[in-house]
Amino acid sequence: MLTHYIEAFKTGSMKAHYNSQIDWVKDIGPTVETNIGFIETYRDYLGTKGEWECLVAIVNKERTAKFGALVNGAKDFITELPWDKSFEKDVFTPPDFTSLEVLTFAGSGCPAGINIPNYDKIRINIGFKNVSLGNVLSAKSGNEPITFVSEELQDLYNKYRVESFEVQVGIHELLGHGTGKLLMQTGENEFNFDIKNPPLGLDGKPVSTYYKLGETWGSLFGSLAGPYEECRAESVAMALVTNRKLLEIFGYKTKEEQDDVIYISYLSMCRAGLLAMEYYDPKNKKWGQPHCQARYAILKAYLDAGEGLVKLEYTKDDFSDLVITVDKSKIATVGQKSIEEYLQKLHVYKCSADVKAGSKFFIDQTTIPDEILKFRDVVLSKKLPRKQLVQANTFVKGDKVEVKEYEETELGMIESFAEREA
Ligand SMILES: [Zn+2]
Repeated sequence: MLTHYIEAFKTGSMKAHYNSQIDWVKDIGPTVETNIGFIETYRDYLGTKGEWECLVAIVNKERTAKFGALVNGAKDFITELPWDKSFEKDVFTPPDFTSLEVLTFAGSGCPAGINIPNYDKIRINIGFKNVSLGNVLSAKSGNEPITFVSEELQDLYNKYRVESFEVQVGIHELLGHGTGKLLMQTGENEFNFDIKNPPLGLDGKPVSTYYKLGETWGSLFGSLAGPYEECRAESVAMALVTNRKLLEIFGYKTKEEQDDVIYISYLSMCRAGLLAMEYYDPKNKKWGQPHCQARYAILKAYLDAGEGLVKLEYTKDDFSDLVITVDKSKIATVGQKSIEEYLQKLHVYKCSADVKAGSKFFIDQTTIPDEILKFRDVVLSKKLPRKQLVQANTFVKGDKVEVKEYEETELGMIESFAEREA
């Protein structure tokens, strides 16, 4: 890979860069991940000119071990989910997912994940890497308050914010996207399920729909497929975050600690659902971001569960003091029941190719009613400016590599850039 890079940068050869990317894709799960080139075309209005980017990222070994344990225990966790084995694959195959920590991402911005190379021929014939950048996702300034969370909970929220997010991402990516069996016709008269005795659907009767030859999840559900599947994965995360064996894998051994992680997971999911409204266009009743639509759907499911599980509380007419409250004592009962019921529907509609009922169900759930939409303005008004990340540099001193980090100030930011040049 490096030899090809050197040739590409010395001669400008695209072919050499292309070849470097083949070697990069084939290098599976390295401890240090690096990629360089004119990669993404987002900033060119013609979508052709790639922008320079260079990243160095490192495997978080602790997190990788936890995710590995999650995959090993998948069989047991999956049986806890609200569907029987007729809607589940015989063998669990975890999706390709790596979580790294960025050391440096040089470019005009730093993404939360990368999915490259963009050379289509390589993607189709050899493959690509799907990498999440953990420390970008969890980055937060030390002095920014958490909006819509009450004063008393700020400390607890800050304490478990990153931890509960790690648990949620792990379940979402591995058990969320990794679960489910699509009922399919696989040949002229062949099916991957018993066509004479199909699995029972939500109404207790055998399902009557399935994926016919040539039909796929994407071709049937169209533009809803993305947000719908994100919602299913996110719901799996919420349904399993209360599983204490699973929390033990992530290092939470005491009941008290586990309760705190569960509580903050609920609170942060509901907060994400509220903030998500930014990406909703009230005029056309359309969503602009799949993950946001998914999180709003879950907030709505919890609100609809009633019994005081989740409340949006305020005293002022302009909602400027709006806070989300979660009743901790109702999580194991009302919360668990509501998310399982919601997830079961999403899952069965998807697996049985019931595009009619599934689409209606999901669109109804994510069309924001006036009594919630009224909070959209205050969500927008409290939106923070786009984050700037102060990045570390490394220096070779003798036979050692030293890491230098910078202050979370404007000066720190400038120093980091200046010393990177040196
Ligand atoms: Zn996802």
